[in-house]
Amino acid sequence: MVHVFCLDENCRRVIHLSDHKHWNYKGGVVCRRCGTKMEVEIDDGEVKSSKKSEKE
Ligand SMILES: [Zn+2]
Repeated sequence: MVHVFCLDENCRRVIHLSDHKHWNYKGGVVCRRCGTKMEVEIDDGEVKSSKKSEKE
């Protein structure tokens, strides 16, 4: 399981990525609590980078 922290200052919730496809993953995730979209890059279960997506 991979854990990503929500990047919203008022939320900071841990997002659990339980699907094994996220072990090596690059793309978007959405916080289920606040709806913030983030772009993450995960390599062998380690979060290499995460940033908030630009607002559309
Ligand atoms: Zn959040």
